[in-house]
Amino acid sequence: MDEDKVRKKQAGLLVMKFGGTSVGSSGAITQAARIVQDEYANWQDVVVVVSAMSGVTDTLIACAKSAVAGNQETYIDLVHTVQEKHQAVVDELMIELELKLKLQEELATLFEALRSLCQGIHIMGELTPRGMDAVVSLGERMNARVVSALLQQNGFASRAVEATSLIITDDTFQHAHPIMEFSRSKTRAALQPLLGDHIIPVVTGFIAANREGITTTLGRGGSDYTAALLGDFLDAREVWTWTDVDGVMTADPRTVPEARVIPELTYNEVSEMAYFGAKVLHPQTIRPVVEREIPLWVKNTFNPIFPGTRIDGSSETERGRITAVTAIRGLSLITVEGRGMLGVPGIAARTFAAVARHEASVLMISQSSSEQSICFVIPSDMEAAVLQAVEDEMALELTRRDIDRVWAQPDVVIVTAIGAGMRQTPGVSAHLFGALGKENINVIAIAQGSSEFSISVVVAAADADQAVRQIHKEVICNELSE
Ligand code: ADP
Ligand code: ASP
Ligand code: MG
Repeated sequence: MDEDKVRKKQAGLLVMKFGGTSVGSSGAITQAARIVQDEYANWQDVVVVVSAMSGVTDTLIACAKSAVAGNQETYIDLVHTVQEKHQAVVDELMIELELKLKLQEELATLFEALRSLCQGIHIMGELTPRGMDAVVSLGERMNARVVSALLQQNGFASRAVEATSLIITDDTFQHAHPIMEFSRSKTRAALQPLLGDHIIPVVTGFIAANREGITTTLGRGGSDYTAALLGDFLDAREVWTWTDVDGVMTADPRTVPEARVIPELTYNEVSEMAYFGAKVLHPQTIRPVVEREIPLWVKNTFNPIFPGTRIDGSSETERGRITAVTAIRGLSLITVEGRGMLGVPGIAARTFAAVARHEASVLMISQSSSEQSICFVIPSDMEAAVLQAVEDEMALELTRRDIDRVWAQPDVVIVTAIGAGMRQTPGVSAHLFGALGKENINVIAIAQGSSEFSISVVVAAADADQAVRQIHKEVICNELSE
């Protein structure tokens, strides 16, 4: 194919990703296929990325966990549940016999793989991150085949493609990092010939492989990231993620029923939202698209005529002050405190080095200006290990009473207010703290992102929902209606 043709083709590529609910039943898959077919008429090329059916990844995790725990009956039941769910969907899709038999055969191989992986885990009594990735990858591998078969049934040339042959990562099983240039050439080599032959690839989201070809995954919710990576590698014109809400909203609609769709957001804002807990996009999704300035849309599979949210690099949205409020739950606040810390160099560095040795991710840090305490937030499941690590590191300072104590406050939540416009707007924090004060919500710690796109507060888990609603009501709605 000559250069010109390649360039023309690439300019018209759309990557569309369908999340778990959007491909979680025969009805949803039918709807998703309709959307793909409609857009295929508008775009020169379409690449589809699919998640596992909703609930399947969780069930696969439960399979592996019950296998390692020795609960044979439970894992066999769960494997059966996964199998039945897929079989029922395939039956309901009314695929013609030959295609259906081929699909069933492919699925049967994957059910068998699941069964033997779980049996292996059960016999060995060991579940490694690598073993877990092998198990959880099966949900996407099954569903890509189902979705592709329906497109074929509807008369479109399509092929299920395993992202293990496209996205190559390091060995960090469960949270793998793509090796970008290598993945780019693998992706182009595998997908461009299909696109050239007018075949719609249906790629497994979430999964990848290391250099040895062993399956890895990109972290929970990683299919969004897959779509953005493919968009980057294939020079897509746009990336659309189809989900079960009308777009990115001012707050999680499950906590704040009055939350509204945000029509336009900047990459920075949405990155901050995803980092601070808005589940609607995987936190890594923005990185590949921002570098190439590829617009990203979040749309609702079940309301496709609604435009959704457009995310790009324009500064248009900086008008608003606080755009959204998010929450990260299941956290503990660790405090290192003591009068003797004042002026002792290196306490912070040593504290975080001790934490890093346990691979605990620190979500937020706040230090009092008097230097008498440092506090930071970590996932609760790391609390005991991190406390111990910091105490060991500071053993001498603790004996000398330079540090009085290292302690944890469990059950805290980080609530974050986000908005690119905060930057030029004085008084935003005052407004936010005023809103929380009105409801007597106790703020345990505060941090402002260095980018000034966000302000985070730590509150007790019991106050979290009220804090989110209060910020939404007093700060976001007031701003929007002004
Ligand atoms: P998918 O499987 O399509 O990727 P997810 O469940 O991962 O869907 O993400 C969509 C969900 O994210 C929504 O159903 C919603 O409950 C939740 N969510 C949390 N915060 C937000 C937000 N700010 N805007 C939109 N949805 C949000
Ligand atoms: N199926 C995976 C998960 O549930 C990936 C995704 O849905 O994006 O985490
Ligand atoms: Mg998701």
